[in-house]
Amino acid sequence: MDIKTLDHQYVANTYKRFPVEIVSGHGSVVTDRDGKDYIDLGTGIAVNAFGMGDAQWQEAVIDQIHKFQHTSNLYYTEPCARLAQLLCEKTGMKKVFFSNSGAEANECAIKVARKYAAEKKGPDYYTILTLEHSFHGRTLTTLAATGQDEFHKDFQPLTPGFVHAKVNDLADVLEKARTHKLAGILIEVVQGEGGVIKLDEDFVQGIAQLCREQDIVLMCDEVQVGNGRSGYLYGYMHYGIQPDVFTTAKGLCAGLPLGATVLGEKVETVLGYGDNGSTFGGNPICCAGAISTLSRMDEALLAGVRERSERIVSALTGKKGVKSVSGLGLLLGIDPERDCGTVINECLEEGVLVLSAHGKVRLLPALNIPLDQLDQALAVLVDVLGR
Ligand SMILES: *Cc1c(COP(=O)(O)O)cnc(C)c1O
Repeated sequence: MDIKTLDHQYVANTYKRFPVEIVSGHGSVVTDRDGKDYIDLGTGIAVNAFGMGDAQWQEAVIDQIHKFQHTSNLYYTEPCARLAQLLCEKTGMKKVFFSNSGAEANECAIKVARKYAAEKKGPDYYTILTLEHSFHGRTLTTLAATGQDEFHKDFQPLTPGFVHAKVNDLADVLEKARTHKLAGILIEVVQGEGGVIKLDEDFVQGIAQLCREQDIVLMCDEVQVGNGRSGYLYGYMHYGIQPDVFTTAKGLCAGLPLGATVLGEKVETVLGYGDNGSTFGGNPICCAGAISTLSRMDEALLAGVRERSERIVSALTGKKGVKSVSGLGLLLGIDPERDCGTVINECLEEGVLVLSAHGKVRLLPALNIPLDQLDQALAVLVDVLGR
């Protein structure tokens, strides 16, 4: 049986896959079963930060595989401790809880905010404010946090205690903060899944000020925009704010599952023994890969991200069939004149992999995509968008 048929028969029907079976990859080029090459502007949804099969990343991971693969969190391991140190030193944060995914990292952040607020203000202060169009994960609690009704409809009741405010509408946030007893506010500075919507500077700074004044835990969901993708190490850094908590996953280990909930001074001691746990969280192979990944995210790499971003924005802005280009760094959205799905399928036929986000064409290329490959992919995009 061919792989597509096998998959349809045995894998749960949750994914609408593209009609492509990927069998190998090198850098920003992936190859399908028929030997056709594609330039990959999706990187497994912002995961493969350095593309496929990056040599340095492979070496870090394979070195650790040769030592040992897993111990559980009952024992100390070097990769876990060193990665936590690296994350804190690069961000000024204080402590890290490791898990395996973005949703779990957000679950942990929500637990931290609720425990902090309950101890500081009382048990009524449990509500978490998030934004409309946000995406925070697929567990029942992170779905409740996600401000998109279409994800909620078949799964009621969701975890109570969430309220959603309008994007870039500080008055709405302030009103909801007045009428709810808030534990925390959780935002993506660039909403990825929700349509590549970049939050306004004033709006983010206004939220940060509200959190400071009212001792609300400010949490940034950096699962998609984090780890160099914004052109800054973490997207919040573009806004000059300091969250109390940030969460990340996707690109952190550049291809293996790892989530992190990173805690600042205000909440560093909130979690005590037994307050959270994960069998796989902080897995040594994933942490070794993440140490390698984060260590490479220096100013030169980030300058390269910003350069590539400008190259994409200037190649597409004002072109035929392009209404607008949004986003930050290498998390970009193109609002097409034509149907988004048609554009994406035609790009695929022409050998370029791109993603969607709420009617937009979403680009999430490798942070180090070679400029000639990027230009080749952009030529295809310009052609397809303008048809
Ligand atoms: C993908 C994503 C998540 C969920 O991450 P998983 O690893 O799929 O659980 C959460 N928040 C944001 C912003 C994301 O993009």
